[in-house]
Amino acid sequence: MAQETIFSKIIRREIPADVLYQDELVTAFRDIHPRAPTHILIVPNVLIPTANDVAAEHEAALGRLFTVARKLAAEAGIAENGYRLIVNCNQHGGQEVFHIHMHLVGGKALGPMLA
Ligand code: 5GP
Repeated sequence: MAQETIFSKIIRREIPADVLYQDELVTAFRDIHPRAPTHILIVPNVLIPTANDVAAEHEAALGRLFTVARKLAAEAGIAENGYRLIVNCNQHGGQEVFHIHMHLVGGKALGPMLA
């Protein structure tokens, strides 16, 4: 069984975080080290360590990441100018927390993705 991370504790509200949204499938909270004016993490409540562990049974939760990202981007006022949605995987992808999550990053021009 996969090892829990700090994100499971945030989802269960056992440790503090600036939680912006939660439902039965996902939780969204502000990144503790924001890289842009808006930097929100959207996380499935179920522990999926990496993109390599995604299975068909996760499709509802992973689809919800996008609908919640869209809602939070609109609420943050960054929808029209645009933003970036990022999912990192393992070492070369720069993943640090092994509970799959989508970064919603915006509020400034981010430039080319692979710069
Ligand atoms: P990764 O590199 O795994 O895609 O991104 C992990 C993100 O989680 C990083 O941007 C990091 O700042 C954020 N993070 C790590 N620990 C915590 C925490 O305890 N609380 C919050 N809110 N964000 C965290």
